[in-house]
Amino acid sequence: MALFETIEKHGDHEEVVICHNSDVGLKAIIAIHNTALGPALGGTRMWNYESDEDALVDVLRLSKGMTYKAAASGLNLGGGKAVILGDPRKQKTEGMFRAFGQYVNSLNGRYITAEDVGTSVDDMENVYAETPWVTGISKELGGSGDPSPYTAHGVLMGIKASVKQKYQTDSLKGMRVAIQGLGHVGAHLADYLFEEGANLILADIDQERAQTVADRTNGKVVDPSTILFEECDVLAPCALGALFDDKTIPQLRSKVIAGGANNQLVEDRHGEALREIGILYAPDYVINAGGLMNVFVELEGYSPERALAHTRKIYDNLLEIYSIAEREGISNNKAANRRAEDRISQIGKLRQKHTGRAQRVWGTLKVDNR
Ligand code: NAD
Repeated sequence: MALFETIEKHGDHEEVVICHNSDVGLKAIIAIHNTALGPALGGTRMWNYESDEDALVDVLRLSKGMTYKAAASGLNLGGGKAVILGDPRKQKTEGMFRAFGQYVNSLNGRYITAEDVGTSVDDMENVYAETPWVTGISKELGGSGDPSPYTAHGVLMGIKASVKQKYQTDSLKGMRVAIQGLGHVGAHLADYLFEEGANLILADIDQERAQTVADRTNGKVVDPSTILFEECDVLAPCALGALFDDKTIPQLRSKVIAGGANNQLVEDRHGEALREIGILYAPDYVINAGGLMNVFVELEGYSPERALAHTRKIYDNLLEIYSIAEREGISNNKAANRRAEDRISQIGKLRQKHTGRAQRVWGTLKVDNR
């Protein structure tokens, strides 16, 4: 594998740490993409990668995504991510996560971890036994617990901003909202939208789950294969990504797409394709940042009220992105990237002068609050 070439190709990262401990079977990679705005925060994914190179490319791609997400969301955080190579159902041990925690600790707060696909609160508590630089731990240990209600609240705020932009109204009463996926995020979102008086169209590949949510929200359950193409005012994808491409875009019958799923566009150019046919797309990494905001608050000493104050900002973040897109005649996803890059460049330069001091302040905040 051409190591440095791969790193340069996938985002020119500040630091990549290879973690290896054969006693406990740990093989992991931590990637710190950019710390211009603050310490790099991003979860640890455990996955059975086909090759070491696949793992490296994944961690490089995901950590760069975290830089953009934090920056576009107005958070004082940089972007990082970690991957552990292995089968999360068979290969997890306490020793593995503690050894991983020692690597996280060695970075002294430049990288802060959390749970992600394949890792759980329990795993993060093993990491926490070795380092304070971990978020998303249980409430009993001073953490914030499950982030999905905050992600869903942020998505609600994003739907409100998108409806304001497209239909010039502040009310969701009577709006037809189609939700794909009623798991952690989708089910909470359905409850919030029901309270706002929206009419819900719901689908999940788990039929029973869809029906349970529909029963308590007066929703209509439809087939999962047609949910994306339902006639509605807002389409809220809350399942998996890679949804919008040359084949699906012409079949859409909603003028707004605003949902919590990650990586909804198959390629960046599909954001432009949506703009061309007048569909307002809320960039996924901006509208679904509520979970990240929630763990960010954990760093300062957790309070649910402050977490909600952050998720409310998703409303203004999106309106600002829509206004950049209109002014510059670009897609909303490009406008979100531009907002992130501008902030990294402006605030990053300012902060550079004080980096040593800022790092120490982070350290103090973290240790004092736990
Ligand atoms: P989850 O696994 O709890 O829920 C996903 C749901 O989607 C499940 O009920 C599943 O049955 C359903 N589903 C899968 N494929 C489907 C399909 N084709 N049609 C209909 N339903 C389908 O996951 P989650 O935590 O709710 O996350 C949902 C999305 O939001 C993911 O893309 C995730 O990356 C993203 N996200 C989640 C959070 C969070 O706080 N949980 C934060 C940011 C982004």
